[in-house]
Amino acid sequence: MTSPDPALLSINTATLRRQWTLPQIVQGLARHGIRGISPWRDQVASAGLAHSARCIREAGLSVSGYCRGGMFPALDAGGRAQARDDNRRAVDEALAIAARCLVLVVGGLPKDAQGRPASRDLAGARAMVRDGLADLIEYAKPAGMPLAIEPLHPMYAADRACVNTLAQALDLCDALAPDDAHSLGVAVDVYHVWWDPALEAGIARAGAGGRLFAYHICDWLVPTTDLLNDRGMMGDGVVDLARIRGWMDAAGYRGQHEVEIFSERWWKTDPDVVLATCKSRHASAS
Ligand code: ZN
Repeated sequence: MTSPDPALLSINTATLRRQWTLPQIVQGLARHGIRGISPWRDQVASAGLAHSARCIREAGLSVSGYCRGGMFPALDAGGRAQARDDNRRAVDEALAIAARCLVLVVGGLPKDAQGRPASRDLAGARAMVRDGLADLIEYAKPAGMPLAIEPLHPMYAADRACVNTLAQALDLCDALAPDDAHSLGVAVDVYHVWWDPALEAGIARAGAGGRLFAYHICDWLVPTTDLLNDRGMMGDGVVDLARIRGWMDAAGYRGQHEVEIFSERWWKTDPDVVLATCKSRHASAS
């Protein structure tokens, strides 16, 4: 398999969140000749939305996604209304930074005020996700901001996302936005879906429907010592990244390859070394 086009490399700003502010990340990407970025809301908020948008625009970066909206389920109508309002603000911010899509981590079981799961009704949570998505499309579609559902590994079903496979995400797309591939699609994150025996079929289905909005890469380490913050650099784990990229290519995906690594190890590394490694591993191991 040939190496991917280096121009497709994008960096999710969570990868450098402990070392650099958003403007510093933008400068770092320019130094390393990296052309894409995907910012997180808290990092944008810290730098200011207008300032962030200007830095990104002046650096000529393309924005592979904006992280993130979602978290739809809540215990009561007030909580769900809060989620709705926050998601609408996320759409506005995504527009301001010219993101290709707003990435949605849909949320898990409703939580109490202390953030603990307050329900065992997983089907109910999934219904709230569906309703929340239906409502958000009504806002995002006329604004022209595509929404990308990111299925998360089932280990997060309780606390982060009760949409856990590509097939489940695509069923939501087909139900909520039939015959409309622009407003609702999926973000394929290898960390979450690499294990799925139906992954190749899911990518092909998403591509055929025009719903492949984003592609996130990292690696799965063995052993994985933390469920959230022990993602691997491409090439350090067991994911056959070249094969999955081949499936994305075959399905017609022409977008960026976004490196998203939450890692106590890489957060302790010189950020210039992190970026240089992302570049070289993108070429050699993805
Ligand atoms: Zn992701």
